[in-house]
Parts: sequence; structure tokens; C-alpha cells
Amino acid sequence: FAVYGAPVISGHGKWLGIVIVLHDITELKRLEQIRKDFVANVSHELRTPVTSIKGFTETLLDGAYEDRSSLLMFLEIIQKESNRIMLLIQDLLDLSKIEQSGFHLNLGDTDLNHVAARAAETVQLAASDKNIRLVIETASDARIQGDADRLLQVVTNLLSNAVVYSPEDTEIWLRIKEGKRHVTVEVEDQGIGIAQQEIPRVFERFYRVDRARSRNSGGTGLGLAIVKHLTEAHHGRIQVISEPGQGTTFQVVLPRTQPE
Ligand code: ADP
Repeated sequence: FAVYGAPVISGHGKWLGIVIVLHDITELKRLEQIRKDFVANVSHELRTPVTSIKGFTETLLDGAYEDRSSLLMFLEIIQKESNRIMLLIQDLLDLSKIEQSGFHLNLGDTDLNHVAARAAETVQLAASDKNIRLVIETASDARIQGDADRLLQVVTNLLSNAVVYSPEDTEIWLRIKEGKRHVTVEVEDQGIGIAQQEIPRVFERFYRVDRARSRNSGGTGLGLAIVKHLTEAHHGRIQVISEPGQGTTFQVVLPRTQPE
């Protein structure tokens, strides 16, 4: 609580009492904390790759460039870390755009079967590298009113997470299920799973169940926050069913039409 007090004095200068105002600032404090955490997270996520780039550049300048194999190895690390910074900045800019009140979708007739096929193409290589089989089940009518590019972003994010958090030699199912008023996109994997109590948290910016593992996999920690915002911008909802050690299913339920 924030407490403000003021004396109450009559016209004749007589002391009448005191007025005390108690102002509940729980929400303000919470928002302030979220903002602080966000800044701390962004700084940390940027510092890690920048420190690495700085270290390897200095080592090269100190003479390591003369050895061809070190030169190549260090340059590759510098390239990888720079890409990571680019990805993070892209996701941050995207998230801030999506979160702005003036953000609007580019609505049009969108076939989710199409979107699914394009998303699958994007992750196919990464899946093949781990010998993961991608199975697509389409619907006979998967047309909705939506933003095709943004929906592609949603499905690609979910699929690429499924690949990252699955062991080798497993399967991932991408199913499009039609309803009368809704179409559902479902991504099911046989990966590490998410504990029940972690499920609501994975949609928070930068929240990762296993920090080290997720960071090594190249993600920015913003993917699911973006997915959730975009789903809600379509008046849809997202649900997660998961069994640690068994696998995870993400379901995105999208209405066929958008309200005026
Ligand atoms: P990241 O870049 O770390 O993958 P996301 O926002 O996409 O960030 O996901 C947040 C966290 O949710 C991940 O770090 C991981 O712990 C968990 N997660 C997301 N998808 C899956 C999945 N299919 N299986 C298991 N864990 C997942």
C-alpha cells in the first residue's frame, strides 16, 4: 500500500483530524517488476553472445588468426553468435509490435492445410537431421479468416519446438481438425514433455523449463509468447497437454470467422 496523510483544519484554524488515504499499488508493483525482469532478461540474453564474440575476436587479434583451423573455427562461432543476436532482436521487435494496441492482422481467406504444409517444409531439414518423421493429417475444409503469414509463424514455431524438444528417431504429428465454427491445429511430439506446473509459465517471455538446454538449442525464449499473442489476436485459444518423458501436444483452436 502507498499511504498518504493530510491534516484537516477548519476555517478558524482548529485541528479537526487527519485524512489518511491507502492506495493499493499491488498491480503497479507487479507491472514494475515485470518490466524490470524483462530488461534484465534482455540484457542477459544479449550479453552472453556479445561476450563470446568479444572473447573470440580478441583471441584472433592476439595471433590465433595465423592458425588456419582456429581461424575458421572461431569465425564460425562468431557467425553463430551474431545470428543469435539477430534472431533475438527480430523476436523482440516482433513481440513489441504484436503487443501494441494498434496492431492489426492482415486478414484474408486462409487455408490451414496450406499453412501446415509450408510450416512442415521449413522444419523438414531439422527434423531429418534427428531422424524425426513428420506426419501431416489435413482436413477436408480447413479454410478460415486469418492472417496467413502470422498463422504460418504460429505453426512453424510449434513445429520447430517439437523438433528441438524431441529425441532422435521419434515422430511428430501435425493435424488439422475441422469443426463447424473452428479449425484446430495440433502438434504432437514424443519429446521430453512439460511438467503440469510449468505449462502456464512456458508462455511467459524468456521462461524456459531448462535454461541451459533451451539456450543451446538456439531458441530465443520468446517463441511461445509470440504464438500465444498471435493466437489470441485471431480470437483463438491455445491448450497444452503433456506428460513428462512421454511427449507434448499443443492445440491451437481458431474460429473460422473473425468478429467485425
Ligand atoms: P525457446 O526458444 O526456449 O524454445 P519458447 O518460448 O518457444 O522458447 O518455449 C519456452 C519453453 O517451453 C522452452 O524453453 C521449453 O522449456 C518449453 N517447450 C516449448 N515447447 C516444448 C515442447 N514441444 N516440448 C517440451 N518443452 C517445450
